[in-house]
Amino acid sequence: METQGEIKATSAETFYPRDEDIEKWMANAFDMAKDALENGEVPVGCLMVYNDEVVGRGRNEVNETKNATRHAEMVALDQLLDRCRHSNLDVRSVCERTALYVTVEPCIMCAAALRLLNIPVVVYGCRNERFGGCGSVLDVSSADLPQTGNTFKCVSGHRAQEAVEMLKTFYKQENPNAPKPKTRKD
Ligand SMILES: [Zn+2]
Repeated sequence: METQGEIKATSAETFYPRDEDIEKWMANAFDMAKDALENGEVPVGCLMVYNDEVVGRGRNEVNETKNATRHAEMVALDQLLDRCRHSNLDVRSVCERTALYVTVEPCIMCAAALRLLNIPVVVYGCRNERFGGCGSVLDVSSADLPQTGNTFKCVSGHRAQEAVEMLKTFYKQENPNAPKPKTRKD
């Protein structure tokens, strides 16, 4: 099965995003994150890009929907799936050529979803110290999990400081939806 591994590696290479793509799509993702912040949501925004076209976009909408799974990536993935359904496109072949641009490292849940859909490349801004699934807490992105889709590559650090500042601004705000903090023994 060595040959197959090589083919996979080569096809992922093809999708390594160019600097100008990163600039362009991340600017858009940051606009979404700002929109999240202005609406009392954790400031994370993302885009899914296939063939230089946006096939999904999302920002965190957990508070709005009162659904803890509605992270930006999940919102964007649902749009991608809808689009495939309506245009009769094969989900797998679209996903295998789609890059995700997101302002914050995907959490463990989202990283697992990205694996299951075979997204090959994720470009992200800052690390997600609390829940990161691409190395910060767990490395779901590159773990050897034969029953859970494919590994994906990460390109990190674009406008990271700005992404961190937005998160800090959010967590400093009074959040009426937040449960009472418990004392943590770290
Ligand atoms: Zn997530």
